[in-house]
Amino acid sequence: MSKTIAINAGSSSLKWQLYAMPEETVLAKGLIERIGLPDSISTVKFDGRAEKQVLDIANHTQAVKILLDDLIRFEIITAYDEITGVGHRVVAGGEFFKESTVVDDEVLQKIEDLKLLAPLHNGANADGIRAFKELLPDITSVAVFDTSFHTTMPEKAYRYPLPTKYYTENQVRKYGAHGTSHQYVAQEAAKHLGRPVEELKIITAHIGNGGSITAVNGGQSVDTSMGFTPLAGLMMGTRTGDIDAAIIPYLMEHTDDLKTPADISRVLNRESGLLGISGQSSDMRDIESAMQAGNKDATLAFDMFVDRIQKYIGQYFAVLNGADAIVFTAGIGENSDLVRAAVIEGLSWFGCDILPEKNVRGAEGVISSSDAKVKVLVIPTDEELVIARDVERLKK
Ligand code: ADP
Repeated sequence: MSKTIAINAGSSSLKWQLYAMPEETVLAKGLIERIGLPDSISTVKFDGRAEKQVLDIANHTQAVKILLDDLIRFEIITAYDEITGVGHRVVAGGEFFKESTVVDDEVLQKIEDLKLLAPLHNGANADGIRAFKELLPDITSVAVFDTSFHTTMPEKAYRYPLPTKYYTENQVRKYGAHGTSHQYVAQEAAKHLGRPVEELKIITAHIGNGGSITAVNGGQSVDTSMGFTPLAGLMMGTRTGDIDAAIIPYLMEHTDDLKTPADISRVLNRESGLLGISGQSSDMRDIESAMQAGNKDATLAFDMFVDRIQKYIGQYFAVLNGADAIVFTAGIGENSDLVRAAVIEGLSWFGCDILPEKNVRGAEGVISSSDAKVKVLVIPTDEELVIARDVERLKK
């Protein structure tokens, strides 16, 4: 048995999950928050226990050291060298990384270079990679890119109708995101349907705080709703999703508080979506309870959220020329029976339905009737498992 750790590093956080491979058993998982800030918090969960400690963690290298020492302290491992592989989630792989890749100096440099496309994310991902390289230099290190799955999109889907030089000189094109999740749930859905993924047309809806929908044809991404950045596509917790681009220069000209790219970026990314419309919360649980209590703004936020999901599913019926299944995943997709029911209710013309007795919290697998033309499924996503599997596959 070998142990592999899956890492998702953010600018001030590090989420991790330790697996026994090839058994794929989760041995422990945890989260280190507030890295670089006073009172950092490290939580380790294992054997039904949750151990939390508050201490100052200055950087990612210190965070990794604390995590490894915790694994020893809690007797989850007896020595560092029991861990033989680490997989890192990397947000932007650009056009370069079409699949998961073993990290050497050149790959790390390329991930750094791609910071241009995801300044906050790729920088943090690279910090996480370097921290592990420093403390565990000899283990297999693999980068798993959020964008790789979408590199199969045809050019007509990934290009924007802007002058070509902005593509060739500035790399402006659709890259998409949540690739590991879309790929994983499409493959799992095929298993539930008892058919090879190569024969299926599937629309995958990853609806969490961030959300994206992908058209998957024969197991390959052919279009996805996120774009050059994760701001595009669906309405999200705090992001607008698609809006008329002309709104941006208009607001910059006619408001006093939106004058710089940073101002605009803040509003579109952090103050919009469910939060912007409800004026209350970016969290779907809060929106649902406010809506049930009769709050009009929350009801509008919910209705708009569902509307955008339906429109993207409608688009992808067209892109795929029909579909065999719609798959819901991520925080809202997995847990909100209200969102699923509202979305599918408006798509009955396409041949979808949903069984109320199956559309419950914790549902997994097919939730539509046996004669539905388009099956509806709930599949819990597992991006960490995909990362651990890729490490196992690429180990020397
Ligand atoms: P992230 O994009 O941050 O990974 P998640 O996939 O964890 O987000 O999804 C977070 C969202 O899932 C939040 O809006 C949260 O309200 C929603 N959610 C979680 N549980 C439920 C539930 N039982 N009902 C409705 N929404 C839920």
